[in-house]
Amino acid sequence: MSRIHPFQGTSTLALRQRKAHLLRSFELSPELLHASLVERFLKCGKPKCRCHAQGPKHGPFFYLNRCFAKGRMQSLLLKSQAQIDQARQSVAAYAQAQLVLDEISQINHELLRRGEPLALPS
Ligand SMILES: [Zn+2]
Repeated sequence: MSRIHPFQGTSTLALRQRKAHLLRSFELSPELLHASLVERFLKCGKPKCRCHAQGPKHGPFFYLNRCFAKGRMQSLLLKSQAQIDQARQSVAAYAQAQLVLDEISQINHELLRRGEPLALPS
C-alpha cells in the first residue's frame, strides 16, 4: 500500500466490491488502543548496584506510550503481565483497524480520482 496509486489497474467494480467487503467485515474492537508498547531495561537508584557497572540492567519494564500534539508523550508503566498482554492485544487491534481504514481511504481516493461517486445510492 505504499505506492501512490495502488489501485490504478483495478476496475471500478472490483474497487466497489473490495470496499463493500471491507465495510461488511469491519468490526470495531472494544479493546483497541492507539499507543505503542515499549520494552525498557533500566538502571536503578542504588549507586553501588551492578546495573551501574557492567552488570545487566533491571527489567524488562513495559510502557505504553501515547503521543500527543506538540511532541508531548504520555508514558504508562504496565505493572502486571495481564496489563502487558492486554496492551499488546489492544495495540494490535488498533493497528488492524487502521489497516482496514487506510485501505477504504485508498479506495475512496482512487474512486474520487476517477470522478466516481464514493457511495452509490441504495
Ligand atoms: Zn540496579
